[in-house]
Amino acid sequence: MDNSNSISAPIDTYDYIIAGAGCAGLSLLHYIIKDPLLSSKKVLVIDKSLNKTNDRTWCFWEYSKGSFEHLVKHQWETISIHAPLFNKELPTVPYCYKMIQGIDFYNDIIKSASIHSNVHWKEATITNMEVHHDLDQKYASVYWQGGVAKAKIVFTSMLPFQMNSLQSAHTFDTKKGDQKSPPFLWQHFKGRVVHFEQSVFNEKVARLMDFNVPQQGATAFMYLLPLNEKQALVEYTVFSDQILETAVYDHILDVYLNEAFPSHSYTIQHEEVGAIPMTQQIFTEFAAPIYKIGAVGDAIKASSGYAFQFIQQQCKNIIEQLEKGKAIDTSVHNTRHRFYDAVLLHILFYHKMNGAEIFKRIFAKNKAATVFKFLSNTSSFWEDIQIMRSLPTRIFLPAALLVLCRRG
Ligand SMILES: Cc1cc2nc3c(=O)[nH]c(=O)nc-3n(C[C@H](O)[C@H](O)[C@H](O)COP(=O)(O)OP(=O)(O)OC[C@H]3O[C@@H](n4cnc5c(N)ncnc54)[C@H](O)[C@@H]3O)c2cc1C
Repeated sequence: MDNSNSISAPIDTYDYIIAGAGCAGLSLLHYIIKDPLLSSKKVLVIDKSLNKTNDRTWCFWEYSKGSFEHLVKHQWETISIHAPLFNKELPTVPYCYKMIQGIDFYNDIIKSASIHSNVHWKEATITNMEVHHDLDQKYASVYWQGGVAKAKIVFTSMLPFQMNSLQSAHTFDTKKGDQKSPPFLWQHFKGRVVHFEQSVFNEKVARLMDFNVPQQGATAFMYLLPLNEKQALVEYTVFSDQILETAVYDHILDVYLNEAFPSHSYTIQHEEVGAIPMTQQIFTEFAAPIYKIGAVGDAIKASSGYAFQFIQQQCKNIIEQLEKGKAIDTSVHNTRHRFYDAVLLHILFYHKMNGAEIFKRIFAKNKAATVFKFLSNTSSFWEDIQIMRSLPTRIFLPAALLVLCRRG
């Protein structure tokens, strides 16, 4: 690894370096520049590409207006769940299910930050980071080809250096049934924004999960979010340990749309692909004052793959700690909900019950708001019991015991 230690020019020093300007890095920057105590801090934001594209769509639920309300492209107050012989619409009150387009989010924060002369930008691929002592003060240096900068604190959301993608983080050997490691599943998907010539969608209902699709020997569903009566984001999503060939997602999307809306033609306006790790494995470790945030910083909820709102919570916690001069703690998932995540992941990973049946039972027996609270880690113990009672005891109990043994 090139540490570029031979660089002899004076090293630029910052209060904070944000390594990776994706969802987590830019969210943190957003809260820093909005904060009266932190907005004048000298910040360097580094990303291998600052030329942002609409590479992802974020959806999440919220019960009031959030920090990015002005960016919400669409929201729904009803969701639906579908499985063989099961169709249910559920009001989401008091929550709304909201959608933000990646490009709107990136552009908005980059534009807001551009008027702050204390925020500096560097487009470069980071090659190394290291901690050192400088006059009894700990600093971290961040290196890229031909350059280096240092800061009192570095927040990183970039992948560990040895990885090209999160895909290569998969160290779990499924075939060996490695009971000691936390299970690892991918939530992988391909989506399209489609536009029909005729009105075909009910724009008031977000189809959260439709399990009437090939299950790939695992758990798979179609996710259909209508933007209006003619336009929708449709995503084929699978929870499994193997990512599929692109042609497979395309074929299933084609068949689904043709069967659901026969004799209606549509155009594809946009496509997105993704693979989100569903695991409690730790990807990489850094020593203070380098802190991981976002997907590599354990912000993804292992049992659902949702991360956007946890990233916001993580960044808000960090802002509070910086304001108060407290030690930085980036953890966002409490022990109780981490335990439920581990149990659900265990059941899915070891195929103790198929995912369609699990989610169908949970949504059949609970209000959407209770499920959202549970998935947001804000449910009460009594609400947790209600959710867990949706699953048969013979499935839940042995899984819970095995998770406890693994922890012990
Ligand atoms: C397609 C897609 C859709 C998703 N949809 C949802 C959703 O609907 N709801 C939800 O809650 N979650 C969703 N997620 C999960 C999660 O919210 C996102 O993955 C989120 O973008 C994670 O934020 P992050 O900042 O950790 O990573 P990223 O947003 O990926 O940012 C990491 C940044 O680091 C930069 N970087 C990496 N390596 C280097 C390097 N060596 N040097 C310099 N820069 C580097 C990258 O260029 C990137 O900008 C989705 C994920 C994907 C992939």
